[in-house]
Amino acid sequence: MTQIMRGKYSKSRRLCTAIHRPSQDSGAAVAIISSAFITLNLFIDRTAMKYRLLFLISGLASFLLLGSRSRILPEREAGRELPNIVILFSDDLGYGDLSAYGHPTIRTPNLDRMAAEGMKFTNFYSGSPACSASRYALLTGRFPVRSGFDWVLYPKSERCIHPREWTLAEGLKQAGYATACYGKWHLGTTKKEYLPLQNGFDEYVGLPYSNDMLPPQHPPIALMEGNDTLQLNPDQTQLTALYTARAKAFIRKHKKEPFFVYLPYAMPHVPLHPGEKFAGRSPRGAYGDVVEEIDWSAGEILELLKAEGLDKNTLVFFTSDNGPWIIKNELGGSAGLLRDGKGSTWEGGMREPGIAWWPGTIEAGALQLQPASTLDLYTTCLALAGQGPPEDGRSVDGRDISSLLLGEMDSSLLDNPYFYYGPHELQAVRKGAWKLHIITSSQTGRDYFNGKLPLLFNLETDPSEQYDLSDARPDMVQELMAEIEQHKKAVAAEGSFWGVE
Ligand code: MG
Repeated sequence: MTQIMRGKYSKSRRLCTAIHRPSQDSGAAVAIISSAFITLNLFIDRTAMKYRLLFLISGLASFLLLGSRSRILPEREAGRELPNIVILFSDDLGYGDLSAYGHPTIRTPNLDRMAAEGMKFTNFYSGSPACSASRYALLTGRFPVRSGFDWVLYPKSERCIHPREWTLAEGLKQAGYATACYGKWHLGTTKKEYLPLQNGFDEYVGLPYSNDMLPPQHPPIALMEGNDTLQLNPDQTQLTALYTARAKAFIRKHKKEPFFVYLPYAMPHVPLHPGEKFAGRSPRGAYGDVVEEIDWSAGEILELLKAEGLDKNTLVFFTSDNGPWIIKNELGGSAGLLRDGKGSTWEGGMREPGIAWWPGTIEAGALQLQPASTLDLYTTCLALAGQGPPEDGRSVDGRDISSLLLGEMDSSLLDNPYFYYGPHELQAVRKGAWKLHIITSSQTGRDYFNGKLPLLFNLETDPSEQYDLSDARPDMVQELMAEIEQHKKAVAAEGSFWGVE
């Protein structure tokens, strides 16, 4: 896929470093030599006009093609390397499931320390209340509606991540990063082109979809390494330890070059399979056991980064793909003071713990109240690597939030609407403090407002979405309805990559 990139800088120069790519330099050199050859040819052989024209056309085409791929990247700051990036991504973890976010019995000392040493977001959103759509949003920076596939993929789903999508891993790889994914992929398995290695990752080990998609309803689940099957129906109690060990080995191996590690844990998505060292330890039961094991894993990664002297040059971000699976009762988690959970566009379905850690760059103990999302991680991480999102006409919805990580006020980020996509449709929008629901749904089957729509909430004064203000603030309803209509029209006009084939 031809990528035309633009040289987009992070607003903050402190966070902006990059290198010249050898491939671009060699491409420009080929174009220059080709053009010189054509010019020489024109003067030497005046009789073969036909061939001269062919050379001229091909030379110009190669110059335009290669030249257009070249971009002027920011200069590498003296003595500063490209930052490493690690994304720790749990599955179905609720906003209230870490002790740092108020859980009374689940102990997460490592994640709590990560928050104490870094920045804790209190308005951080996943891209969707469901697994596949959320991972699509994280890795492409685009709202799930743009994917063209259903919101949860199954082992036999035919329409998965489109080859023309340009993932965060592809972008970072282009910037010279070593890239690895250890864990749940869930963006397609029925064609090789859907798998991680064909989407920018140098290494992959993991279950390619949810850990409950098992026989007899589904085929045997594969633990994969690269494009191959390592084992069928593996012992899930080993998974968190395995992913952690592989991530640590990858970091050690690539410590002298920039790396991107994406670690999407299999759990606390049910079934819950804590490792032997964690089983039966948490007062919160098996759910607490697996969360405490994920906390241990995060601690292992952070300690390694410190031990290797990489902590000052590594951004680690911890969050989850969607809210707690509350219909599983005690096997599901808690959204804390937020309403509902997984599958729903109530806050509990999409607002997540969000912890950013980068000692020396992110101020210790910072609390970030501004809304941000996993879509923003895409654009921000690319910017940190000196890359811009694709500039070929596709929409990228994520924003560069480098300024937020630095604790700076960026007024340009304040008024962006954020759209909540529920099962197959747009259900709500947030702008500033205000959230408007035009559709609500819940896996519990509950309708909390007896069918009344639209519903308007002020999330700053009412994070639990208890007090509908739609009658009191028709002006705000109108403003947010206009945002929805404008967004829907633009999305429909652009379509997905699937729609153009
Ligand atoms: Mg999930």
